[in-house]
Amino acid sequence: MKTHAKVVVIGGGVVGCSVLFHLARHGWTDVVLLERDELTSGSTWHAAGGMHTINGDPNVAKLQKYTISLYKEIEELSGQATGVHLTGGVLLAATEARLDWLRGVVAKGRYLGIELEEISPDEAAELMPLIDPRQFVGAVRNKEDGHLDPSGVTHAYAKAARKLGAEVERFTKVEDIVQRTDGLWRVITNKGEVVAEHVVNAGGLWAREVGRMVGLELPVLAMEHMYLITEDMPEVAAWNQKTGTEIIHAVDFDGELYLRQERGGMLMGTYEKANKPWSEFQTPWNFGHELLEPDIDRIAPSLEVGFRHFPAFQNTGIKQIINGPFTFAPDGNPLVGPVRGLPGFWVACGVMAGFSQGGGVGLALSNWMIEGDPGADIWAMDVSRYGDWATMGYTNAKVRENYSRRFSIRFPNEELPAGRPLKTTPVYDLLSAKGSQWGVAYGLEVPLWYAPEGVKDEFSWRRSSDFEHVAKEVETVRQGVGLSEISSFAKYRVTGEGAAAWLDHLLACKLPKSGRMTLAPMLKEDGRLIGDFTLANLGNSKSDDWFLAGSGVAEQYHMRWFEAHLPKDGSVSIEALGAKLTGLSIAGPSARKLLEKVTRSDVSNTAFPFMAITRMDIGMAPCLVGRVSYTGDLGYEIWVAPEYQRAAYQALMAAGEEFSIGLFGSRALNALRLEKNYGSWAREYRPIYGPLEAGLDRFVAYGKQSDFIGKQAALAERKQGGRLRLRAFVVDAADADVIGDEPIWYGGAVRGWVTSGGYAHHSKKSVAIGYVPKEIADEAYGFEIELLGKRHAARMQPTPLFDANFERMRG
Ligand SMILES: Cc1cc2nc3c(=O)[nH]c(=O)nc-3n(C[C@H](O)[C@H](O)[C@H](O)COP(=O)(O)OP(=O)(O)OC[C@H]3O[C@@H](n4cnc5c(N)ncnc54)[C@H](O)[C@@H]3O)c2cc1C
Repeated sequence: MKTHAKVVVIGGGVVGCSVLFHLARHGWTDVVLLERDELTSGSTWHAAGGMHTINGDPNVAKLQKYTISLYKEIEELSGQATGVHLTGGVLLAATEARLDWLRGVVAKGRYLGIELEEISPDEAAELMPLIDPRQFVGAVRNKEDGHLDPSGVTHAYAKAARKLGAEVERFTKVEDIVQRTDGLWRVITNKGEVVAEHVVNAGGLWAREVGRMVGLELPVLAMEHMYLITEDMPEVAAWNQKTGTEIIHAVDFDGELYLRQERGGMLMGTYEKANKPWSEFQTPWNFGHELLEPDIDRIAPSLEVGFRHFPAFQNTGIKQIINGPFTFAPDGNPLVGPVRGLPGFWVACGVMAGFSQGGGVGLALSNWMIEGDPGADIWAMDVSRYGDWATMGYTNAKVRENYSRRFSIRFPNEELPAGRPLKTTPVYDLLSAKGSQWGVAYGLEVPLWYAPEGVKDEFSWRRSSDFEHVAKEVETVRQGVGLSEISSFAKYRVTGEGAAAWLDHLLACKLPKSGRMTLAPMLKEDGRLIGDFTLANLGNSKSDDWFLAGSGVAEQYHMRWFEAHLPKDGSVSIEALGAKLTGLSIAGPSARKLLEKVTRSDVSNTAFPFMAITRMDIGMAPCLVGRVSYTGDLGYEIWVAPEYQRAAYQALMAAGEEFSIGLFGSRALNALRLEKNYGSWAREYRPIYGPLEAGLDRFVAYGKQSDFIGKQAALAERKQGGRLRLRAFVVDAADADVIGDEPIWYGGAVRGWVTSGGYAHHSKKSVAIGYVPKEIADEAYGFEIELLGKRHAARMQPTPLFDANFERMRG
């Protein structure tokens, strides 16, 4: 075994082997994979080997498509058979709601290049003869589904990697990992030590244990999973004989089942409701090629549905039930990327669909390690989407919920209950008493809307029970004054003598003067966005003191970036304030009159103009108040230490009675920002778009002296004009609005995609925001947006529907 390597990959399951292959293919050949046993000794060996392209997140779907396209290449390169059967498949809907969901999947497929086609239940039964078509209302055909040999694929990755110069050491158990003072990693094994620049944790079933070696508690949990294999079935033999083809795959969402042919019989697997975690606290090191005890009672309810939906199963015997564990992150997507605070330590774990996702995970991670960027939008898989709040208890609750809902529909207005409430702010019970319906962002409870007694969300793809109540909240803001909780923003404090110079290099904007704020895009080296913030200068001639507010869900993501770019001399400190700073916002034409009543500070337009920020008392509570509002109205963001939040809230609510103050939640805020064409991080602003494309170029100080990160690339984008443009549309929609990821049609073809949208209650228009190619970005007409299987005319809306001259917020 070598004693030094550029990279040590820990784990020889399908994921580790894919990472190793991709690193070698990308040119890093001084890489070694350490496996404690034979390759495939975790979840990999007993997988059902199914593969499919569809995923709730379009970017993950793209990587799944890549994974499937890769198998031919690794088979050729390695000479190792992968056993790929690209049979195609049908996705079945037993309810209208499910069919609506499937139509959304078909629509997304159009811009992802995934060929999906809606078909009738009878057409589905012609393709997959075991179906009882009377049990279904519709189906979708996917030609890219199939299955493979899990062990063959894993060995093909490993052999292909070896041919490219990588090494694989089997029966080599990593027992400890220690970072040296020079930043290199000592990877200590039962056979000696390897010193490496980078370590990848692809430990699969043991990813938690490997994480603990460096003090990391990863939010992953293994679950038992069962599938059965039947005796040979005459129906299968007849079909094979008649058509000369295998029976294709089927996913029966409402039965929570997946099935495919296995030799002369069928394989049927299920994600049962009464699920069971495996090794909740510690995965035993002596576990390997064992299977777990099957428990047919647990899967009986799903099998009953299966026997009804696929009647031929009633007449066959079960040959074998496989029960094996595999790991999940709380939301079911992988955990990939560099770990904040551990330079050179990477993870590629929590991969629950290794044969659909393993290739994409390997590609993204190798790009990231070698080029400094994953090369694709992998936010949905980024390990930084979780923070310390994703504890073992939280993970356990969420993984169990996610497993039991693997095939369940999640409606756009549906909030999932497990693991909540976890983080709350001091006004939580006060807002609950007012009817707050809670959602969650980065573990924190956030008010979505306020329901009258007895009313709650009815889950639907269409406008629902909240519609009229959100409309009222919007009018409270537009006509008078509304109050909302804004603690879910991420807040950062930057101090130290080097702070200004550092921020000037990190952010693409011009730095604001003392007491002022600005919008601050942050770019990567390739000139694309990696953040967008409000930057405030709280300093004075004596000290540097800066405040940043940005996307709450990206707190860890941004801290990882900030810390990786901090100067080494200690001249700058940055702190994520999290729940140490809570927030309230007031907005609407009466907002200033309300503020005047609760503070002694001069808040006139002259003394406290738009984009000013200052400390002032609200009632008795010391606060930091910025004159800015995402509502696009006259408004203020009020930052307050949690111990004073209730006092500030009560002072504002009491003084606001005179102005008929009302509460508004994030759904009303969405309606308000849509009619201002305001984008948001993780929807409109993502690391695949340039500032010109995203319409944030007006905040980029291209001419500033500082050589800010991404400057040259941003200048090039400005010169060449980029590829895309972010545009707002008014959609001719009747009872449903876009939620994001719908295709935008132009000239009879899909040319773009929606990033977010909804109903703008004040303007009474259905609004969609999305990207289209720049060549058609100035066309007013001819666009259509596909919503629930139908195309709706959409008119471009270049100026905000509300207050196009920005008089309200500046006045
Ligand atoms: C019953 C069942 C059916 C499934 N069906 C499918 C399916 O149809 N399609 C699909 O895509 N997925 C399926 N899966 C899931 C799939 O198996 C996993 O997604 C995949 O195997 C994860 O691979 P991995 O490499 O991340 O982890 P693992 O396979 O667990 O590999 C981790 C490896 O790391 C090694 N290791 C850990 N710690 C150390 C250490 N300290 N030192 C050295 N080596 C170490 C282990 O020995 C192991 O070999 C199924 C899983 C089960 C259980």
